[in-house]
Amino acid sequence: MKIAVLSRNKKLYSTQRLVEAIKKRGHEAEVINHTNCYVVIEKDRPNVYIGDHEITGIDAIIPRIGSSVTFYGTAIIRQFEMQKVFTTVSSLALVRARDKLRSLQILSKAGVGIPKTAFAKYPGDVQTLIKQVGGAPLIIKLLEGTQGLGVVLAETQKAAKSVIQAFYGLDANILIQEFIKEAKGADIRAFVINGKVVGAMMRQGQEGEFRSNLHRGGVGTPVKLKREEKSVAIKAAQALGLHIAGVDMLRSERGPLVIEVNASPGLEGIEKSTKIDIADKIVEFVEQSVHHTDSKKKDKIGV
Ligand code: ADP
Ligand code: MG
Repeated sequence: MKIAVLSRNKKLYSTQRLVEAIKKRGHEAEVINHTNCYVVIEKDRPNVYIGDHEITGIDAIIPRIGSSVTFYGTAIIRQFEMQKVFTTVSSLALVRARDKLRSLQILSKAGVGIPKTAFAKYPGDVQTLIKQVGGAPLIIKLLEGTQGLGVVLAETQKAAKSVIQAFYGLDANILIQEFIKEAKGADIRAFVINGKVVGAMMRQGQEGEFRSNLHRGGVGTPVKLKREEKSVAIKAAQALGLHIAGVDMLRSERGPLVIEVNASPGLEGIEKSTKIDIADKIVEFVEQSVHHTDSKKKDKIGV
């Protein structure tokens, strides 16, 4: 099989590991920089090009689309989807997962536990909004922030009010969220592939930091998940339509609460802390899926 990793940089840990795993399992690997691709659309011919070279013969793609190029990246994925190339993340699931508000709406409908969250574009009364999520301390999040940037802990009512007003003044889209204090600056990342948790780590933020992101100095250690945590992670990935997902949960007094579902979860933190070969499991999943699609196609012709 020829499997392409859509990535802007061959040297990134996740990209390198995926290429290694693809080759190790006996396939051909290609790294395609999606930001260099362009699409040509005409009747019945959804093509993808780099320069004057048409990209053909790809059996599956593993997109690693950074959050700064979601729009462009999804357009490229969609083009491959129209060619019936298998993708580990569909363009639709990627768009859903990249919007924190839309994700929480979908999760809440699916019955997945989430911290109580409010969203308003023009709040008449900020005080009421604060009260809705249980008052201060509370969390304020930029809708499209990543890596812990754009997440603020407002410890007092006064701080909350002025930060919220400042964000509104900048015309930013923000979520106002209940602060889960008992999580103690830690969260759980469950790596889900095809409806199974294949690895999990606990990330603990630095001393005095409520954000556990590895990019903010958090440290990951392997963790054994409780049965409920596993099933919540699987349900969250499924609700968003993600075959592969990094589901982030907080351990709260009322059970696991999902704060985020990552559609392009990094491999470095999870592989290094758990020593599990996640890249290999991703490629194994691609093999199964492509074969499955092949047999479905044959079935259709056969009938
Ligand atoms: P990002 O996309 O920037 O990673 P997150 O929503 O994942 O944003 O938040 C970053 C970190 O902040 C989380 O990993 C978690 O440690 C902490 N955090 C986020 N939301 C809450 C919350 N409601 N209560 C307590 N801690 C939170
Ligand atoms: Mg996060």
